[in-house]
Amino acid sequence: MWILIPLALFGLLIGSFIGAVSYRLPKNLRFIKGRSFCDTCKKDLRWFDNIPAFSYLVLGGKSSCCGKKISIRYPLIEIASGIGTVLIFFWSQNLIFCLLFFILLTIFVIDLENQIIPDELSFLVLLSGILYSFSFEKIFVGFFLSFLILLLYLLTKGKGMGLGDVKLTIGLGVWLNFSKGFTFLLLSFLTGGVIAFILLLIGKAKLKTKLAFGPFLIIGFLITLLFL
Ligand SMILES: [Zn+2]
Repeated sequence: MWILIPLALFGLLIGSFIGAVSYRLPKNLRFIKGRSFCDTCKKDLRWFDNIPAFSYLVLGGKSSCCGKKISIRYPLIEIASGIGTVLIFFWSQNLIFCLLFFILLTIFVIDLENQIIPDELSFLVLLSGILYSFSFEKIFVGFFLSFLILLLYLLTKGKGMGLGDVKLTIGLGVWLNFSKGFTFLLLSFLTGGVIAFILLLIGKAKLKTKLAFGPFLIIGFLITLLFL
């Protein structure tokens, strides 16, 4: 169990990188060096500004350079990444699944905030799935499920799904066999339906509100991959 502590720290650290990538990738800003400069005053960040979650707490949610309010998204993403890494490894004993989780968390955040799924991230999910366990069945599952989403996209004239969801589904599908593939899609629609219903009930959404579907695909996928 001792390995869970370094894993949690590793997850927090990657979470800090994901916070930067998911902010900068949809805006085409450079992101390779992580959060190396302040987005407001462009000053270089010091090492202690980059300690995940803790720096947010210690600095009271303000940056140390210009006192700008730091978005709560950063500590939230870092903590989600830390907890997710530990849970996934504890459950599956599989480091590859942890790495896959990092890509999916990035997509989750970007789709939630921008309603887009960058092609290069979907491709990364696809490629890693094929490399992890190549089988014609799984590749067929990926394209078949994606075809179903494409049909929905065409039938709803793009109101329910986006082409990003179609492409992401290929990548997610190649990780699953046939029966798990269908479970994954079913779970995604179920969670999507339940969350949409709750949002309607509490008045946070209207019938016309467009919800990103990517996060639900990712939740349905992770439950299927890890627990079923
Ligand atoms: Zn600043």
